[in-house]
Amino acid sequence: MAIEITLLGTGSPLPDPLRAGPSTLVQAGQVNLLVDAGRGVLMRLAAAGLGPSQITAVLLTHLHSDHLTDLNDVITTRWITSFPATPLIVLGPPGTANVVDHLMSMLRADISYRIHHHDDLTDPPVVHVTECVAGMTFEFEDVTVTVGETDHKPVEPSIGFRVDYEGVGVVLAGDTVPCEGLDILCTGADALVHTAIRSDIVAMIPMQRLQDILDYHSSVEQAAQTAQRAGVGTLVLTHYVPAFGAGEGQDWRDLAATEFGGRIELGDDLHRVTVTPAAL
Ligand SMILES: [Zn+2]
Ligand SMILES: [Zn+2]
Repeated sequence: MAIEITLLGTGSPLPDPLRAGPSTLVQAGQVNLLVDAGRGVLMRLAAAGLGPSQITAVLLTHLHSDHLTDLNDVITTRWITSFPATPLIVLGPPGTANVVDHLMSMLRADISYRIHHHDDLTDPPVVHVTECVAGMTFEFEDVTVTVGETDHKPVEPSIGFRVDYEGVGVVLAGDTVPCEGLDILCTGADALVHTAIRSDIVAMIPMQRLQDILDYHSSVEQAAQTAQRAGVGTLVLTHYVPAFGAGEGQDWRDLAATEFGGRIELGDDLHRVTVTPAAL
């Protein structure tokens, strides 16, 4: 009776030798959900003990490239390492099908090479895309995934997901500013996984390209306020801008604690958090 959260990639668009791009693994029973698929996702997934054939579904929060840059790797590597080939399920916001169609075009040469070379590989990879809007729900075995609306404007549409399993609810917010849609998704949940930036630091850096990120991400304090409003027991922060060093981050924790009274989790790639029902 628990949901396991593994921060596969805690980085951002900025390349970092220690942090893969945004991606979070959510495991509930036999179900393995990959939330976003940023840079290096399959390396981190391997480190977490899973291969791409074991992914139940990929959940995309929005179509920013840093959140899906390795989706092509997931598609290809799942295809060539699944016996028999198993369609990849992708849930994402409207626009996702177009992105996947273009990825498949990009992969056309590779797909033909492999089909011609391997006698038992006769068909191209199959990807089942469902474009989601708030309120939609999906069942994967005994796990329910609910879609909610987030606010990452001008990146539109953007969505968050709630995963419910045996009385435990975990929300994956993705990139968003505080908003009603996220509050609704979080109501009654046990944990909130939220991307966050240190607005206090970013605001001091005299570079317009960085200043631009302030208006469509939550600060650490805002993410903590959302968690506090919802009454979740655990706040998991990820997608650190600017990134902190290995084993560091106490300042992030302290900042979040000014607004949120529950458990605060953050750390390096592969940081793992177990979420149990509030009553336990
Ligand atoms: Zn984004
Ligand atoms: Zn992002």
